Amino acid sequence: MDRDRRRTDRSIALMVEELDQLNSGLEQLVAERTAQLSTLRTQLEATLENVDQGIIMTNATGQILVGNHRAHELLGSNPERRFDRLDPIDFPFAAIAADGARRVELTRPGGIMLEVRAAALADGGTVFTILDITERRRREIELRQAEAEYRSLFENSVVGLYRTSIEGRQLRANPALVKLNGYTSETELLAAVNDISVEWYVDPRRRDEFVRRMLENGRVTDFVSEIYRHATREKTWVSESAWIVRGPNGEPLCFEGTVIEANERIAAQTAIEHMAHHDALTGLPNRLLFLNRLRSALATRAADGLVSVLCLDLDRFKEVNDSLGHPAGDALLRAASARLAATVRAGDLVARLGGDEFAILCVDASSPYDMASMAARIVDVLSAPYDIEGQQAVVSVSIGVAITTDSGGEPDTLLRNADIALYRAKNAGRHTYVFYEARMNAEIMTRRQVELDLRNALGNNELDLFLQPIVDIADGEVRSYEALLRWRHPGRGFVPPAEFIPVAEEAGLMAPIGEWVLHRACAIAAKMPGRTPVSINLSPVQFRDRTLVETIAAAIATAGIEPGRIEIEITESVLMMGDPLTVLTLNRLRGLGIRIALDDFGTGQSSLSYVQKFPFDKIKIDQSFVAKVHDDRINAAIVRAVVALGRDLDIDVIAEGVETEEQLACLKAEGCRWFQGYLFGRPAPAGMIVPGLDFDMSRPRLSGLTPDDHLGAERRRHGHRA
Ligand code: C2E
Ligand code: MG
Ligand code: MG
Repeated sequence: MDRDRRRTDRSIALMVEELDQLNSGLEQLVAERTAQLSTLRTQLEATLENVDQGIIMTNATGQILVGNHRAHELLGSNPERRFDRLDPIDFPFAAIAADGARRVELTRPGGIMLEVRAAALADGGTVFTILDITERRRREIELRQAEAEYRSLFENSVVGLYRTSIEGRQLRANPALVKLNGYTSETELLAAVNDISVEWYVDPRRRDEFVRRMLENGRVTDFVSEIYRHATREKTWVSESAWIVRGPNGEPLCFEGTVIEANERIAAQTAIEHMAHHDALTGLPNRLLFLNRLRSALATRAADGLVSVLCLDLDRFKEVNDSLGHPAGDALLRAASARLAATVRAGDLVARLGGDEFAILCVDASSPYDMASMAARIVDVLSAPYDIEGQQAVVSVSIGVAITTDSGGEPDTLLRNADIALYRAKNAGRHTYVFYEARMNAEIMTRRQVELDLRNALGNNELDLFLQPIVDIADGEVRSYEALLRWRHPGRGFVPPAEFIPVAEEAGLMAPIGEWVLHRACAIAAKMPGRTPVSINLSPVQFRDRTLVETIAAAIATAGIEPGRIEIEITESVLMMGDPLTVLTLNRLRGLGIRIALDDFGTGQSSLSYVQKFPFDKIKIDQSFVAKVHDDRINAAIVRAVVALGRDLDIDVIAEGVETEEQLACLKAEGCRWFQGYLFGRPAPAGMIVPGLDFDMSRPRLSGLTPDDHLGAERRRHGHRA
């Protein structure tokens, strides 16, 4: 029994010990688990407090089990106040869970927008998540507004807007661009266009250029091209600006751009360009365009290709302009231009260089022979009479021709050489054409030198007057002297007036030289024994000076002589200018008592008509008639007629250039009474004839020769050169 009890006691003790052990193990486990739970809770709470969303969890009865700080913040509740339940004021969304709705948006006071989502739990509870969507909604609204704005711009812009693929497929087009292409809707246009490079640009290479510039610079600005309106194929000019739209990695996605019509601009540009390159009066190309064409013709000609330049100048245009008036002059220029344009070959360029100067450029088929026949044709065509506002006008033309064979390939040289040849044509009596030869260039250079030297001649006292007697055959006495201008050039000796007077006239030096002659001649006349008259030659150029009468009157007054001692010699060319003031001037001179002689009679085209225009006191028969009077019946007849005319009109007739007794005999037989010529006396320094004149003996006298012999030698030398 005892043994049994002891055994029982021992087993009980063992059991208790075992239970104790178990108990303490359990306690440890509980402690461990509690600690674990606490950590988990802390973690969960930290997470809950740190999420951007508000979170609330309720049980089936609506009691709040969990609610984070953010939920309180978003709901605008006092975060210190702890909620127990979902009440409808603080939680206006409480009902959604009941309604089965899963999502609701709320606007809180202050405009804050919340999105609340509800998730039902298995035990009947609910988890609410609350998100602040104010910013998101604001962005959405802004985006929508911006989109509407851009759409409005796109739709309403008068500028065409587009987007195309890099390959040239049309992706978008706004109504302006749709309309520009002749369509009514974007869809219609997008459906019709396949490849703008070939369908849009009149010159398909424009698209290549466009893409090239685009890829090079990332954009093109004001890219002007002629395009087809896609629907109608009608051409129009546009200006494009465009840029590349790139993907996130910078890869080109498409092109976008604007298009405006540029027709007016192109028209204005074209007009300006035209104006810059054409002459307003005749519509012909001007000097600028002519030179451009000449330059490119010379640059592109074949090795054996000929380029020719013709320089034209209308003869006596100024006279027509002065007598018929400027409007008539303009009309004449237009008419002449039209004739020119109609006369040249297709492909030749006619230009107006200015005034009455024209130029023609002929490329290729121009052999020198072609050029000659063309120049001859132009001289003919332009010289036919013009009908200008009911009046007949006649001009002719002088032409200079230069061809690359003689002038080389420089545009300026070619033009200058044609000009030199033109000058030659003018000197050759006009109404003709002359081809440039290298020799002419040398002549021009000499002429330029003459001009330079002449400018110093007056100041250096290099000018002088010689006197040549005019004799009355009735008594063999000197009736008067003609004053003839001489230039003692320091290097060249005596330069004949024929060589330097035309230069002086052109260089504007004739006025001062003419005035010097007048004063000098009057001074000579003052010292002249027996009050012999002196005749003075006047250049046509001097008649352009409106104070000519006063200048002459002053020279006479300074010398203190009677005006009757002075005679003026003019040539037909003075009257040929057609200036009505010339006759007035002559009459005023006549009124002063000065006599007027018509010099070189018979050399002009209609000498007789000038005798009718002004009542001359004297006529001087030109030496060309006198020279042949003895062996040419016609010349003899002319001399006879002029002498008869003089007798009938009471005009003295003087024969110039009488060198031989034979000529004298003939002239006397024809009734001539007054003579001038080497037979009676060569021109000689005034000091040799007029005693007491300040004749400067220190000037070099050339041994054995009278000064005029020397002049003759000089002239013969010149003749050899020419
Ligand atoms: P012109 O008025 O007809 O003068 C006559 C020209 O014939 C002079 O030439 C004279 O030297 C030349 N001469 C005279 N007798 C004979 C002759 O028997 N045989 C030949 N072969 N010739 C003779 P020059 O002095 O050389 O003058 C030429 C022209 O220059 C003049 O022709 C005149 O038109 C112009 N001239 C001369 N002096 C002046 C001047 O002071 N002012 C202007 N404006 N022109 C002038
Ligand atoms: Mg004379
Ligand atoms: Mg003469």
